[in-house]
Amino acid sequence: MKHINVALFVSDLGCPHRCSFCNQKTISGKITPPNATDVEKAVETALSTSECNDGEIAFFGGSFTAIDRGYMLELLSKAYDYVSRGMFKGVRISTRPDCIDTDVLAVLKKYGVTSIELGCQSMDDEVLRLNNRGHASDCVPIAAKLIKDFGFELGVQMMTGLYGDTREKSIETARKLIALEPDTVRIYPTVVLESTELERLYRKGEYAPQSLEEAVDLCSELLTMFNEKDIKVIRMGLHSGGNVEEGYVAGVYHPAFRELCESRIYLKITEKELEKISDKNIEITVGGRYVSMLTGQKKSNIRYLEEKGYRVRIVQDNSYPKYKITVRGIEK
Ligand code: SF4
Repeated sequence: MKHINVALFVSDLGCPHRCSFCNQKTISGKITPPNATDVEKAVETALSTSECNDGEIAFFGGSFTAIDRGYMLELLSKAYDYVSRGMFKGVRISTRPDCIDTDVLAVLKKYGVTSIELGCQSMDDEVLRLNNRGHASDCVPIAAKLIKDFGFELGVQMMTGLYGDTREKSIETARKLIALEPDTVRIYPTVVLESTELERLYRKGEYAPQSLEEAVDLCSELLTMFNEKDIKVIRMGLHSGGNVEEGYVAGVYHPAFRELCESRIYLKITEKELEKISDKNIEITVGGRYVSMLTGQKKSNIRYLEEKGYRVRIVQDNSYPKYKITVRGIEK
């Protein structure tokens, strides 16, 4: 049976602050907040294309737990109609870490919510302050613990390249998020959108977004850190669509951002293996499914190795799992 997820954007209705990077209208591509009828329509449309009972109904954007309680219950009740009839496995929501308490968690539990994602963005207090998040990092472990204690799946979201951010601060953020033992992570390099504080800072020359190269290099390292702890990275980079293209001003927005990071990991593994041999004619064995990750987009990894003087032959072995390669020197 095909797995279907239905995503609805609740915009920034519950937000007590305006984060420097946020223009929810652009991210969601939708200005009018959904009501119960919209939830029903979205779910029925999804169900009409396939039967489903293991998908999720997701309320993303904004601060779901901070929106008007009556409105929140309106949306949740409609979603719960479907969950309670076994047509979806649960409801997923995203919210700010300072908008979690036992009262709201009890309500979410009652209405079939199974996963809660915290928009942490950074665990560095200075970065949070500079980007007008309106909370410090100390509320994140408290919220994470409550969410886990209530038996929800915990997701965390982090950003890279924020105003005042550095590579080291992002790595430290990842370390602190790993310590929370989340089930899932989303990593978003910062995109400068129109009508945001970041756009103003960027135009004044006070903020320089990450380059694509910087973001790929950093986020491939973050991906490795989460992989090593078996924490599922379920998203890297903003989704295409959702009007981001129209509101885009600057920053890292690439439709295949994750693939770029995966390829960078393969390049780093290859370089490590090459340190063990002196040959320049090499054969790399890799799992068949991972050849394109090894070669990189437009064969960028192979070109990089060739520029270093290597001649590369690739051999496929489907018993090789992800990230496993063997490199050996061969005769000319
Ligand atoms: S908390 Fe989220 S939705 Fe609200 S302003 Fe910040 S980024 Fe936007």
